Amino acid sequence: MPLRPTTTHPKSNKSNTTPVTSTNTPLSNSHLQSQHLAPPVPSIAQSSINISNISSLTPSTPLKIIIIGAGVAGLSAAIGLSLTGHNVTIFEAVSTIKEVGAGIQIAPNASRILERFGVLEDVVRDGISLEKNSLRRWEDDGEIGWVGLMPGVGKKYNAPLLVIHRADLQRILLNRAQSVGVKIHTSSPISTISSDFSPSIRLSSGEWIHADLIIAADGIKSFVRQEIARKNGVKDETVSTGDAAYRVVIDEERMRGDPKIRELLRGKTGVRWMGPGGHIMAYPLRSHKLYNMVLIHPIRPHQIDTESWTSPGTKAEMLKTYFGWNSTVKQLLSYVPDDGEIMEWTLNSHAPLKSWHEGRFVLIGDACHPMLPYVAQGAANAIEDAGVLTVALSLIQSADKIEDALKVYETIRKERGEAIQASARDTQRILHLKDGKEQEERDRRIRESTIAARGGEKKGNPDLWADLRWQEFMWGVDVMKDVVERWSELTTGPSSSSPSPSIRIQAT
Ligand SMILES: Cc1cc2nc3c(=O)[nH]c(=O)nc-3n(C[C@H](O)[C@H](O)[C@H](O)COP(=O)(O)OP(=O)(O)OC[C@H]3O[C@@H](n4cnc5c(N)ncnc54)[C@H](O)[C@@H]3O)c2cc1C
Repeated sequence: MPLRPTTTHPKSNKSNTTPVTSTNTPLSNSHLQSQHLAPPVPSIAQSSINISNISSLTPSTPLKIIIIGAGVAGLSAAIGLSLTGHNVTIFEAVSTIKEVGAGIQIAPNASRILERFGVLEDVVRDGISLEKNSLRRWEDDGEIGWVGLMPGVGKKYNAPLLVIHRADLQRILLNRAQSVGVKIHTSSPISTISSDFSPSIRLSSGEWIHADLIIAADGIKSFVRQEIARKNGVKDETVSTGDAAYRVVIDEERMRGDPKIRELLRGKTGVRWMGPGGHIMAYPLRSHKLYNMVLIHPIRPHQIDTESWTSPGTKAEMLKTYFGWNSTVKQLLSYVPDDGEIMEWTLNSHAPLKSWHEGRFVLIGDACHPMLPYVAQGAANAIEDAGVLTVALSLIQSADKIEDALKVYETIRKERGEAIQASARDTQRILHLKDGKEQEERDRRIRESTIAARGGEKKGNPDLWADLRWQEFMWGVDVMKDVVERWSELTTGPSSSSPSPSIRIQAT
């Protein structure tokens, strides 16, 4: 289901550097003129772009790029941009870059980019290829349907689907970023940017740092996002999704003597238990030595004002929440250590922004598309952002064309990212239906689509994560290839009625 491009306009790029205080910086006449009279993008005559060989994407002008934040988004972008010859520095607020939490699914739309960034081999080594995902009832553990994963998905999309411990993913990305020359400054929170969105940030020491482009990968609480929203006259508010998540990882040792549960740990099946008001996603991790569970439930009143952030939970509270669920779930939860660390996330969101970029600042990852984890696409979309920026910034001919690259980034990514974000919200309602007519109809359709899939037929599955057609949209689109194929169409100036015939680029 290809999405049509949206139209965006290059923004002001003035360069005086003052702390953020005011909003609208007026565009100069000459700037406006240069937008309308801009000639078509310089030709990349006869070039053939091989996105599988990232280092062949050598930019004409290596840029100085600052990235705020070293999460999946920031590190992935740093790797891609450094591999293509840019000079990349990350400023990260925390002192040690490490992931809390449990497992994460890497879908094919992300794994094909990670391969180009030279990290897929490590992710495959440390991850697990699930063979199927079983959709089950909360009350009696009965299987409603299932969806086949690897190796079929890998063959279909020419890229694998894996699950991996977040800490392992973070370590792999960090090592790769360092080995390709990315400079990383930890304990460096950034809280001030230039008021006109020229590419400058102020360190806590008071020193201003200048670059050609600033990428804000500062997560769901992004302060750069707030500044961009403010510039556009919008108050950027947190939207509660009504859900919270416990994330637990159970050690193999604790399951000894329980053959039924050990089978879950040893197997290659992910399990999705659906129940009234919540659901649980579970799968094995780390060479089947850990069992990962994400348990979604309604937030409690005191959590309403907390952003998507961790807070310690208790086992007793968790057992109470899942009291009426089936014996497999309760047995699994009984293995969580009584005094163990149980983390709880409140899951919040933000309304879509008008634009993901302003001047020489651009947002990526949760900073621009925070999403519920129900189609397992938040990090995958952050990796897509990194892939798209990597290609787009390597195709411009000079630093003064950065806005062209940002415009292409936004066209390729925003509508798609927001569609996936919306699908996660739709899935929330479907997964959390109370028992009754609607739930029976949902389960009937899941059964029907499972049977149809066995005969090679695609019948709508109301769980969009398991829906074969939505999977094709989420997993099948190669956004890096899209940049190459649509570059000419998207960067040719409005004054030109036909695309430049001299641009001959092709994705291979
Ligand atoms: C329960 C749960 C399960 C999930 N499961 C999946 C899944 O299976 N698959 C998937 O693809 N996604 C999943 N996601 C989503 C995924 O985890 C996120 O989308 C992804 O981690 C976002 O990465 P990010 O780099 O944009 O943000 P973050 O990981 O939040 O990183 C932001 C970084 O910026 C730093 N920072 C913030 N402010 C500043 C500042 N002012 N100065 C300097 N540094 C700053 C922070 O310290 C942090 O390191 C899940 C999410 C949840 C909550």
